[in-house]
Amino acid sequence: MRLLNQTCLVTGSSSGIGKAIARKMAMEGANVIINYYSDKTSAEELAHDLEEISVDNEMMVVKGDVSKQKDVDNILRKTIDKFGALDILVSNSGIQIDAPSHELTLEQWNRVIDVNLTGQFLCAQAAIKCFLHQGIRPNISKAMGKIIHMSSVHEIIPWAGHLNYASSKGGLLMLMKSLALEYGKDKIRVNSIAPGAIQTAINEEVWSSKKGMENLLKLIPYGRIGQVEDVANAAVWLASDESDYVTGTTIFVDGGMSCYPGFLDNG
Ligand code: NAD
Repeated sequence: MRLLNQTCLVTGSSSGIGKAIARKMAMEGANVIINYYSDKTSAEELAHDLEEISVDNEMMVVKGDVSKQKDVDNILRKTIDKFGALDILVSNSGIQIDAPSHELTLEQWNRVIDVNLTGQFLCAQAAIKCFLHQGIRPNISKAMGKIIHMSSVHEIIPWAGHLNYASSKGGLLMLMKSLALEYGKDKIRVNSIAPGAIQTAINEEVWSSKKGMENLLKLIPYGRIGQVEDVANAAVWLASDESDYVTGTTIFVDGGMSCYPGFLDNG
């Protein structure tokens, strides 16, 4: 119960990695705000499941588009109205809209940047305002607040045909580091998790075929695709006081994908 009496917002948590993170945070004793974009049923089912396994902690489901300031404000307002404070933000929402770069439309570029980068800015800014208003909460956490951005190995690995996505995650690296630098003095910790290939809906096209999986495994020295729990375990650690001296860094949860697997032999 490393997160007892803490409140955690997980954006985009009706599916995939966000859902697993919401579950682990609840299992560690946190109140969890399950933000969803469109799948209300899954979000409500998750809240129901988590309430069954919780001790005193509570769940709340809130709809919202993280790329819209008014939606983000609404999520934060509802959080404070119900729980009185926010301790952890897991800014997980993200999308992919792929096209060869010479055919990528401005609309496709903007939508991915809006959700994956501007959405991260809006949520982090709103959370930081809450943290500064609350101050450090004695006996709750050593930090004033914790922000975990969901990045990707593509914050450092270029990705052909995914220009908008790779650019959004590359931008997120500097967003995370700049915020960590600016708010370290306030004891707000800001970090990212960079998953490699995790088996979720976002990349089903790749892992659902035998050939796709074979090709994918060539990129993963550890020899298996990642599971959502691999990422959730890292998120809980980053949210807890066990990582109190960790800020401004990215934790790669990628089975070694960022270790240049093409150089396993002679390169
Ligand atoms: P997913 O599609 O299951 O999750 C993405 C979530 O974001 C969904 O719940 C979706 O509804 C939500 N979302 C989309 N647009 C939104 C918006 N405008 N406002 C609020 N929520 C919105 O896929 P996932 O794999 O669980 O992805 C979660 C995060 O992990 C993303 O940021 C993704 O870039 C990142 N990631 C995933 C992998 C992987 O291999 N699965 C690898 C690297 C990074």
